[in-house]
Amino acid sequence: MYDVMVIGAGPAGCMTAKRLADAGYNVLLVERMKIPREKSCSGILIKKSINMIENEFGKIPDSVLCKPYISKGIIITNEENQTFKFESDSLNVWRSLFDEWLTLKAQNAGAELRQSTSAISCKEKQDHVSVKLHDGAIYEEKTRIVVACDGAGSIIKKNLFKNPNNHVFTYQTFCKGTINLDNNFFHAFLDPKISQYDAWFNVKDDFLIFGVGVKEPAKMKMYHSEFLSFLNSKFNAKIESCVKEEVGIMPNVIPGCPVNLGTGRILFAGEAANFLNPIGEGISSALASGYAAAEAVKSAYKTNNFNVKSLIDTYNYNILPEKEYMTRQWAILANMSSKFSYMK
Ligand SMILES: Cc1cc2nc3c(=O)[nH]c(=O)nc-3n(C[C@H](O)[C@H](O)[C@H](O)COP(=O)(O)OP(=O)(O)OC[C@H]3O[C@@H](n4cnc5c(N)ncnc54)[C@H](O)[C@@H]3O)c2cc1C
Repeated sequence: MYDVMVIGAGPAGCMTAKRLADAGYNVLLVERMKIPREKSCSGILIKKSINMIENEFGKIPDSVLCKPYISKGIIITNEENQTFKFESDSLNVWRSLFDEWLTLKAQNAGAELRQSTSAISCKEKQDHVSVKLHDGAIYEEKTRIVVACDGAGSIIKKNLFKNPNNHVFTYQTFCKGTINLDNNFFHAFLDPKISQYDAWFNVKDDFLIFGVGVKEPAKMKMYHSEFLSFLNSKFNAKIESCVKEEVGIMPNVIPGCPVNLGTGRILFAGEAANFLNPIGEGISSALASGYAAAEAVKSAYKTNNFNVKSLIDTYNYNILPEKEYMTRQWAILANMSSKFSYMK
C-alpha cells in the first residue's frame, strides 16, 4: 500500500511527488512514457515558474536550456494588428530534458519511479484507491491517495467522470530558415484568419518553430499554412526545410475558468485539473497546483483518522490564489483581444 500514487511525471506530478517524498511519504510516481520523453511545448519558463522551480528543485541546470537561453518576454499581436509587448526574462528549455531533471529530483527525494507504465483507471474503496496499471501486463496497486497529473488528455479523469475532455489542439513545425522577427521574444498572433485560437513563433537552438492552436483538428494544417503565408508576407519568413512536426493538446478554458480538483481520495493537478493560462502558459499553474495538492495530502494525513473530506477542501483552499491568478490572466487577454472577449 503506497501513501500516495502520483500519475504523470510532468511539472505537476514531479512537484507533488518530490514534496511528498521529501516529507517522508511512500510515493509511487507512474509515467506512461520512457524518460526522457517528448512533450509538445514551447518550453518557456516564466519568472513565476522559475521561482517555484528554484525554491523546490534547486538551480535549473544549463544542460536543459536551449538558445536563446533567455527569452525576453512575449509580443502579442491582436486581430486589429495592435501589438502588446510584455518584457520579462524567461528561460527557454527543452521539455524532454527539463522534465527528466524534475523526475530525477523527485526520485532523489525518495519517490519510486515506474516508467513505461500507464495508469488506466482508479477505483475508490473504503480506505484506499485501487489503481489499474499497464506495462505490457495489467495489474493493480493500492494507495491511500492518488494525485492524477496525467495532463490535458487525462484518462483518469475521463474514466472517473465519463465526460469527454474539452481540448484545443496544437500543431507546430520545427524548421530551418530565416525571418525578420526578434528571436529573443515569443511572438503570439490572434488574427482569426491564421488560427482558431492563437498562432506563435519562437526559436529553440537552430529551429524556427511555427505553431497554431485550433478547435477543429482537421483544420490544423490549413491554418498552419495560412500562418506561414502571413509570416512570409509580413516578416519575410523564408523556410528552407522542416525537420519535425508535433501535435499536442491543451485544455479549452471556458469563462469562469472552472477547474476540477478531483473527488474523495483522487485529486487532479496541472492540466488534468484544467489549469492553463492564456497563450498556452501552463507550467507555472502545473507547479502551483502540484504544490497545493501535496500540501493538502500532508494535512489530510495529519488529521485524526485520515479525514478524506478535508483532502479536497484543503486543496480547494490552497489553490484559491492560483485560480484567481488564472482568472485575472484570462481577463487581461480578453481586454486585448475581441477573439477572447468571452473570457471577460
Ligand atoms: C504546443 C504547446 C506549447 C506550450 N508552451 C508552453 C510554454 O512555453 N510554457 C508553459 O508554461 N506552458 C506551455 N504549454 C503548456 C504546458 O506544456 C502544460 O501546461 C504543462 O506541461 C502541464 O503540466 P502537467 O504536469 O499538468 O502535464 P504534462 O506536462 O502534460 O505531463 C503529463 C504527464 O503524464 C503522463 N501521462 C499521461 N497519461 C498517463 C497515464 N495514463 N499514466 C501515466 N502517465 C501518464 C504523460 O506522459 C506526461 O509525462 C504548452 C503546451 C502546448 C501544447
